[in-house]
Amino acid sequence: NAKTEGKNKISFYEKNIHEKSNNFILMSNKIQKGLTNKEFILFYQPQIELRTGKITGMEALVRWNHLGEGFVPPNEFIRVAEATGQIYELENRIIRNVLAQKKEWEERGFSDLELSFNLSSKSLIRDSKFEQIEELLSEYDLDYTNIVIEITETAVISNIDLAVERLNILREKGFKIALDDFGTGFSSLTYLMMLPIDIIKLDKSYVCMKNMEDKDIHIIKFVVSLAHEFGFKVVAEGIETKEQLENLISIGCEYGQGFFLGIPMDIDSINALLQVTAANL
Ligand code: C2E
Ligand code: MG
Ligand code: MG
Ligand code: MG
Repeated sequence: NAKTEGKNKISFYEKNIHEKSNNFILMSNKIQKGLTNKEFILFYQPQIELRTGKITGMEALVRWNHLGEGFVPPNEFIRVAEATGQIYELENRIIRNVLAQKKEWEERGFSDLELSFNLSSKSLIRDSKFEQIEELLSEYDLDYTNIVIEITETAVISNIDLAVERLNILREKGFKIALDDFGTGFSSLTYLMMLPIDIIKLDKSYVCMKNMEDKDIHIIKFVVSLAHEFGFKVVAEGIETKEQLENLISIGCEYGQGFFLGIPMDIDSINALLQVTAANL
C-alpha cells in the first residue's frame, strides 16, 4: 500500500545518500593515497593555429595514473578534491610542474609556446591559497606572458568581485586569462564584459555537434565575431573532424584544440612532437 511504498522510497533515498557519502569518503581516501604515491601527472594537448596547423600552445591536463586502476579521468576526482580541499595540494604540484616544464621548453628554444593550465575557482577565491599561488609563481624566473590560466565562468560567478580583483592581480604579473568552457555557463554579456580575460575557449558542445547545420554555424560565427569584437582571442575546443575544422576556419575562428588535431599526450610524446615540428620549420 501507499504507506509502505512511501517508507520504501524513503529508505531507498537514504541508502542512496549513504552510498554517495560512502563513495565520497572512499574517493577522498584514494586521492590522499594518490598524492602520497605521486600518482598525479600532467598530459599536454596541443593548441593549433587552425589555418596553418602550427602548434601555438599546450594545455596541461591532470591525469591520475592510479595503481591498479589505470587512468582515472579528472571529472571523476576534481570535484571531490575541491570539496575536501585536497585540490590545494594537487594544484600546488600541478603549478610547480607546469612552471618547470615551461622553463625547460624556454631553455630548449620553444619560448613562444603558450602554456595553459586549469585553475580551480577555489584556489582563486580562498585567501591563503591565492597567496600561496602568488608565492609559487614568483619562485620561477619566467616570462609569464606566455602562460595562460584557464578558469570557468560558473566558478567565478559565485564571487565575482573577488574573482575580478584576483584575475587582475594575475594579469598585472603578465599572465593571460582564458575563460574555459564558454557557452556552458550563463555566458551573459554582462559577465563577459566584467571579467578581465584575454581568451575565450569555445566549449566543445558548440564545436562537436555531429553535423554542423547552417543554423549552428551561424550561432558559432556570431559568438566568434562578438568575441573578436571585444578583443578576445578565440580557441575552439573539441575539434574531432576535418569538417568541423573547415567550418571553424571559414567562420574566422583562429585557434583550436581537439582529438582531430592532437590528443592529450604524456610528456615524452609531446616532446617528440615538438621536436618533429621544430625540425620541419
Ligand atoms: P577542460 O579544461 O575544458 O579540458 C578539455 C577537456 O576536453 C579535456 O578532458 C580533454 O582531454 C578533452 N578533449 C580534448 N579534445 C577533445 C575532443 O576533440 N573531443 C572531446 N570529446 N574531448 C576532448 P579531461 O582531460 O578529461 O579534463 C576534463 C576537465 O577536468 C577539464 O576540462 C578541466 O575542467 C578539468 N581539469 C583537467 N586538468 C585539470 C587541472 O590540472 N586542474 C583543474 N583544476 N582542473 C583540471
Ligand atoms: Mg581547460
Ligand atoms: Mg574546456
Ligand atoms: Mg571542462
